[in-house]
Amino acid sequence: MNYVLAPPPPTAVAVAGSNVRFAVHRIYCIGRNYAEHAREMGAAVDRGNPLFFCKPADAVVADGADVRYPQATADLHHEVEMVVALQSGGANIAVDSALGHVFGYAVGLDLTRRDLQALAKAKGMPWDAAKAFDHSAPLSAIRRASESGHPQHAELSLRVNGQLRQRADISEMLFSVSQIIHELSTLFELKGGDLIFTGTPAGVAALARGDQFNARLGDIAALNGAIV
Ligand code: MN
Repeated sequence: MNYVLAPPPPTAVAVAGSNVRFAVHRIYCIGRNYAEHAREMGAAVDRGNPLFFCKPADAVVADGADVRYPQATADLHHEVEMVVALQSGGANIAVDSALGHVFGYAVGLDLTRRDLQALAKAKGMPWDAAKAFDHSAPLSAIRRASESGHPQHAELSLRVNGQLRQRADISEMLFSVSQIIHELSTLFELKGGDLIFTGTPAGVAALARGDQFNARLGDIAALNGAIV
């Protein structure tokens, strides 16, 4: 096949303890999945209607790499999140079989241009400019579920310049991993290679140039980087 432009290489994420890499198909995200975070954003806690949005696959920034402070914002926020990597997918996946589609788990930042999000919310406009910008998804290596199991409890934390900013247990999620996969699959046909950001706990705040961040998901995954 000849293309007018050479196709871009796939976004590839490291797999912990391995030389193979995980090629990213799509990035899905759920919003307002921890009650305290929904409240701090002034939003209602809604256990019936999950809020989903997407980021482009090439928004991923590898563990240890610098993150350029993005254009068009004066209020870049961190949101530390557990990230689920799928090895297979489908449409209308049952809750009971959802975990069978999980390849592994990682920790990432759902970086957010909070000023643009506030503007979008006020005007009833889409969140793309607030969420789906370049370099908006720093991500750790993926730990295979065959090594980590499917964690029901794990501490999710973010330190910035050594100071604790966010900490919660993943058991506090309003929609579990199985429920998220089920709900997403009623809207989109999921595929192996998809990543799912599973929502952030309370404590979101601004990042500045020069900040060093350290995100952890228990002893499963860790992410380090700097805003430059
Ligand atoms: Mn988020």
